[in-house]
Amino acid sequence: KDKSSKAIRSKFMNYFINDYNHNFVRSSPVVPLHDSSVPFVNAGMNQFKGIFLGTQTALHKKVANSQKCVRVGGKHNDLSVIGLDGYHHTFFEMLGNWSFGECVKKEGIELVWNLLIQKYNIPKDMLYVTYFGGDASLGLDPDIECKDIWRSLGVPPERIIAFGAKDNFWEMGTTGPCGTCTEVHVDRLGYNNRSSFINKGLQDLTELWNIVFIEYNRKEDGTIEPLPQSHIDTGMGFERLTAILQGKMSNYDTDLFSDIFKGIEKICKGVPKYRGQFGENDWDHLDTNYRILADHARMITVSLADGVIPDQNQKLRRIMRKAFLVSETCFKTEGLLRELSNYVVESLGHVYPELEKNITQVHDIISYEEDIHKLLRKNSLNEWQHLINEDPRLANLDIVESPGLTNAYKEIKSLPDNVIPPKVAFKLYDTYGIDEEMLIKLSEALGMKLVRQDFKQELTMAKLKSRGKVIFNQNIIINQLMKENIPQTNDQYKYQYTKEEDAYKF
Ligand code: ATP
Ligand code: MG
Ligand code: MG
Ligand code: MG
Repeated sequence: KDKSSKAIRSKFMNYFINDYNHNFVRSSPVVPLHDSSVPFVNAGMNQFKGIFLGTQTALHKKVANSQKCVRVGGKHNDLSVIGLDGYHHTFFEMLGNWSFGECVKKEGIELVWNLLIQKYNIPKDMLYVTYFGGDASLGLDPDIECKDIWRSLGVPPERIIAFGAKDNFWEMGTTGPCGTCTEVHVDRLGYNNRSSFINKGLQDLTELWNIVFIEYNRKEDGTIEPLPQSHIDTGMGFERLTAILQGKMSNYDTDLFSDIFKGIEKICKGVPKYRGQFGENDWDHLDTNYRILADHARMITVSLADGVIPDQNQKLRRIMRKAFLVSETCFKTEGLLRELSNYVVESLGHVYPELEKNITQVHDIISYEEDIHKLLRKNSLNEWQHLINEDPRLANLDIVESPGLTNAYKEIKSLPDNVIPPKVAFKLYDTYGIDEEMLIKLSEALGMKLVRQDFKQELTMAKLKSRGKVIFNQNIIINQLMKENIPQTNDQYKYQYTKEEDAYKF
């Protein structure tokens, strides 16, 4: 049997599209169009937000797709664990299916369960399910209907576990569509009864699939209101599914990543091979660096191909600089990231043709950014060492990630009192690339006061101002991608519906 990631993805599509009459919808770009509530597209449902809110009519009632997702900011931010665990990535593919305007829970759950059990042949004793256990502050009762459905499918009671809003009330961002959810978790070891370890961050017992019953909208004032209609929205991590079906304990041991690791080994002659170790067993951090680089190479290639521009997206720039730094310090190879982008295209280009189409743009921006980074590093390292000698309070700051720190330091030192005004904070962020986290560390080390709220406001203002420009640039690229004219109006979701011929790619 074909256990390649490619075959696994196809099986998902075939199941929903051919067996259950869903319509295929292309992945949207990772850029949230006309939506400032999220920094990147973070789930399959993002492109359907308008349908959920009732401002958009669904072309088809049932759809399925594989969506490019990025989780590096806002409500869903996994950046801090990248490389440290084997199942969170900055970029990942989310396999999903939807039922618009109709939330028949039994049908939604059955579709998911049967695919896992009958088509993918995952043993039942590897699986656990969770359901919404109620939340007083939301005014919502436990979802007993959901629990009973799982019982009716033969899941033993000790494997059906209630969780609160933190895990089982899904929200896209701080505002927007949301609802209670039910999840399938997989014990990769298949032990008996480890239900008390669910949602505890265990590497071998992870969440796989989330079925959300979209019924509410979270408003600016923090309250939730019922939506005009309710919907089913599901999302499954493709890399996690692949790891389970290929019998691997980490997503990085699947063909989705091992081909990129082979690329690193080939390009960087003499570098030790990837060993697959975590934590203390990865004593020299070599494997962690492999994972960070492979993860970031995927995220960067996809983002650049979708028209995200590091000049206008500090998160992307920071991730690129981290990748350059790892290439330089651990793998001792210039131009590595650029080369790796070809491996990413090799791995994902057949699913997302825009990667191949825009590869020149990807190469050009990577090279341009690498040149800047090299210059900044050379200058700042010397200067910074100098400063640490003068001001020992700086000794413990992690400077390598932020070449603009020297200038930021000087700017702060020149302030008349011990407060960093929001305008200055924004300049440090915008001009010197000091992100919020670093800014906080730096101000603390120097005993300066930083009013985070004001800084955030300044950031939002700046984002609003540059939005027109960003959308213009991105639309050019998306126009190319879709060979369609995107109206500058709010008709935002139209372009994402595929033409028939795209569906064969699966
Ligand atoms: P987790 O609790 O493991 O962080 P989540 O609850 O944040 O996952 P959801 O928002 O429910 O994830 O997204 C649906 C599915 O997407 C998850 O069940 C998981 O399989 C996958 N997923 C979520 N975040 C990531 C990530 N950073 N990398 C890879 N897959 C992910
Ligand atoms: Mg998460
Ligand atoms: Mg979760
Ligand atoms: Mg979840």
